[in-house]
Amino acid sequence: MNLINTITRAEAHDIRFILMDIDDTLTTKGKLSAGAYQALWDLKRAGLKLIPITGRPGGWCDLIAREWPVDGVVGENGAFVFWEEHGVRKELFHPSAVPNDHPILKHIREQLSTYVPQVRIAKDQFARLFDYAFDFAEEEPKLPLSVAEQVRDIALSCGAQAKISSIHVNVWLGQYDKRSTAELFLSEHFGWRAGIEDRAIFFVGDSPNDEPLFERFPLTAAVATITQYHHYMHAYPRFIAGMEGGEGFAEIAAVLLNTRRNA
Ligand SMILES: [Mg+2]
Repeated sequence: MNLINTITRAEAHDIRFILMDIDDTLTTKGKLSAGAYQALWDLKRAGLKLIPITGRPGGWCDLIAREWPVDGVVGENGAFVFWEEHGVRKELFHPSAVPNDHPILKHIREQLSTYVPQVRIAKDQFARLFDYAFDFAEEEPKLPLSVAEQVRDIALSCGAQAKISSIHVNVWLGQYDKRSTAELFLSEHFGWRAGIEDRAIFFVGDSPNDEPLFERFPLTAAVATITQYHHYMHAYPRFIAGMEGGEGFAEIAAVLLNTRRNA
């Protein structure tokens, strides 16, 4: 990983889409800072297309698509994309997304309440359409990563998909992830060509659940928070910010915009 200010003018110039995780990438200790939100507006006003990619629920993504300066939001780890077009909130559901009232997900919940009783259903569960989120580090008492790994392993053994974020373990049944749905939206909605226009994408994340995107795209960055996970990582981003969370995102945005201005 190199510091973000080593990005070249040519690299910064070719970027058209900024994709970013939300929790601990745009937020700092759970809050969306003024600086990070301003950075979104600055990038948007510079003509870049912005697409947050999150494990957060449908109910939140409806708000984000309508009220934030974004061009789409991938939610529930890739179950869907919401965006606004001519004043109408549109949606694309991944073809394999399965609603979260499925009996396999109910069975997993029962298994977890028996074998990992300390883990909690996330408080944002009521707003979810396709997945279950189990909280291990959003609220106090924060539980060790080993508890999240136990949850993931039980879900996987029951035939579900499971991903650990910095706060939740998300469990779902469809064959999708953040990366595959982001690519589907980019190609269907913007005519982006995979393999030919990969350098038009810039992704910013913070943790191991962002690895599929770090691995997929040549231009990626992480906020400094990522250094705490380096024992768990297999794929690293190309660049890193000096600061953590939303301050790190604002730092990355400022470097990108300055470098483009000088290109
Ligand atoms: Mg995150």
